[in-house]
Amino acid sequence: MNNLPFIRLNNGVKMPQIGLGTYQSGPGRETRQAVIAALEAGYRLVDTASMYGNETDVGAAIRESGVPREQVFVTSKLWNDDHGYERALRACRETLRRLGVSYLDLYLIHWPDGGLLEETWSALERLQAEGLVRAIGVSNYTISHLEEMLDYAQVPPAVNQVEFHPFMYRRGLLQWSSERNIALEAYRPLARARKMHEPTLVDVARDHDKTVAQVLLRWSLQHGAIVIPKSVHVERIRENLDVFDFALSEAEMDRLDGLDEVSRIT
Ligand code: NAP
Repeated sequence: MNNLPFIRLNNGVKMPQIGLGTYQSGPGRETRQAVIAALEAGYRLVDTASMYGNETDVGAAIRESGVPREQVFVTSKLWNDDHGYERALRACRETLRRLGVSYLDLYLIHWPDGGLLEETWSALERLQAEGLVRAIGVSNYTISHLEEMLDYAQVPPAVNQVEFHPFMYRRGLLQWSSERNIALEAYRPLARARKMHEPTLVDVARDHDKTVAQVLLRWSLQHGAIVIPKSVHVERIRENLDVFDFALSEAEMDRLDGLDEVSRIT
């Protein structure tokens, strides 16, 4: 599965375009089994966060899988109560310790909360300069957050991880980010499995002999986004990776674009 697509980030780092999400993947066995199943299936990107409470298990599973550390792209995120220069440095070291790794591939500010975004970003820049993190980015940032940030950042964010699926199609943000070489990473790419019976999706899936989940992932991939579907079930983990033997036509992409409700899936 080493021919899976990747995105070249604005600092040259290669990031797989598909990975495993782990939000609400329970600590202990559940996360360990999911991560091992994903790595066995061919995934090479795992998305976690200090807030998810499963970094220890993600790290243990990577080691147990036997896949060399340098072949796995590990993302984690800085939680809201760790904003500020010193706190952010400490939070990252804690994350590294829990994961049992010497570096992260990507470290994100989880939410643009609190009044210390500039200090926090400066800490992430230092972490990157020190080699503890290969790329740095943000999450849940709007265009105005990013515009403000580009004024103070010495290093521009490589990635913005946001909710992105046909029901939350951020056309403007996608365009703006691609013009500035900030990769858009789609979280909730399956719309949390809440739209699996939506008639247009069911229709398109039937035409390709694929599942609705696979059609949703194709839509994000064809928009150039990185996708991180979450599952703790082996069959679904495999199903979600099996999306590279078909393509949505322009007309199908347009139909799915038209499903936008401009609202988050809660
Ligand atoms: P999601 O990936 O859109 O959907 C996950 C849900 O879909 C789970 O209930 C899962 O159930 C189910 N599912 C997975 N594959 C399926 C399939 N093939 N068929 C039917 N159902 C399927 O939602 P998400 O977990 O919220 O988002 C993905 C990842 O993005 C997260 O895990 C996390 O890493 C990241 N995220 C980041 C933020 C942020 O603020 N930065 C916010 C939310 C999420 P099972 O597990 O039971 O299979």
